[in-house]
Amino acid sequence: MVKTHSELDRALSGDTRALGRLLSLVEDGSPRVREVIKDLLPKTGHARIIGLTGAPGVGKSTMTAALVGAFRAAGRRVAVLAVDPTSPFTGGALLGDRIRMQEHATDEAVFIRSMASRGHLGGLTAATPQAIRVLDAAGFELIIIETVGVGQAEVAIASLADSVAVLLAPGMGDAVQAAKAGILEVADLFIVNKADKPDAQQVVRDLRGMLALGTTEPGGWKPPIITTTATTGEGLAELVTQLDAHRDWLAAGGELTRRRHARAREEITALAFAALRDRVTAGIKPGVTPAPGTRLRSTTTRSAFVMAPINPSRPRTYQCEVDA
Ligand code: GDP
Repeated sequence: MVKTHSELDRALSGDTRALGRLLSLVEDGSPRVREVIKDLLPKTGHARIIGLTGAPGVGKSTMTAALVGAFRAAGRRVAVLAVDPTSPFTGGALLGDRIRMQEHATDEAVFIRSMASRGHLGGLTAATPQAIRVLDAAGFELIIIETVGVGQAEVAIASLADSVAVLLAPGMGDAVQAAKAGILEVADLFIVNKADKPDAQQVVRDLRGMLALGTTEPGGWKPPIITTTATTGEGLAELVTQLDAHRDWLAAGGELTRRRHARAREEITALAFAALRDRVTAGIKPGVTPAPGTRLRSTTTRSAFVMAPINPSRPRTYQCEVDA
């Protein structure tokens, strides 16, 4: 059994293996993590969190590696959380292959971690904010969350970031898909990557057309469109400039605080859903309604729950009562 508190001390003092083990506990939804999370709180709130999302193949990993390089050149410690909500079982391994970070592998100021959903999305959306908190407390000044795919799950995870960049690329037909999934609404910046390809300007035009339909409030942030070639670093300086401009805008108008409060609310909701799912799935077989009085034992906490009818006139409606 891992001694979570001493593990935490090691992780916070720069031991990346200890940090990795701590993040595994977070990923597993271990109840032991809850004991230490509150000790972390005073050390958090300093990291800048950047979300990078987009369809597979648009160049997120290449761009993440380029951004890590840019931030390292500025002397920053950087962590990357690569989250794949779309492939619950093999996500971790696939992401490991995907990350093009070899040049940063031996740099101690860079920490890279793939998060797999281990079977359920609810767990991942609950674990990601906690993982961010651990990395923040461990002194990483920049945390890049890279999410794979374009869908609701990415919207949820992207919204954990202070600044969300949505990547698009020519030839992928993903702008419309992104719009449908609501990902355009969470974007603070648009990156049209693969600018070296002929159709890149068409993607920029499509995007402009789509954005023109929306309105920006006075003093609001108008998401810039940045064209890049991640493989050569073209446009990277402009991206960093725009990310800085967004951070300054967030800080100036109180939006940073508002976002962080919203994030805390989402985290609580995700934890509540994870706990509820845990209760419901603890002993219930698909298609079978447990009889009143059935004891259900939680799979991840020590609690037990008893099925009790909510309304005797509707005997198939049950609630779980905690059997302390
Ligand atoms: P991800 O799936 O979004 O993480 O995309 P990757 O970073 O794995 O990139 C997918 C492929 O696109 C790789 O073969 C990259 O080398 C290539 N790629 C990434 N950025 C660019 C770019 O700006 N131009 C071109 N031509 N290829 C790129």
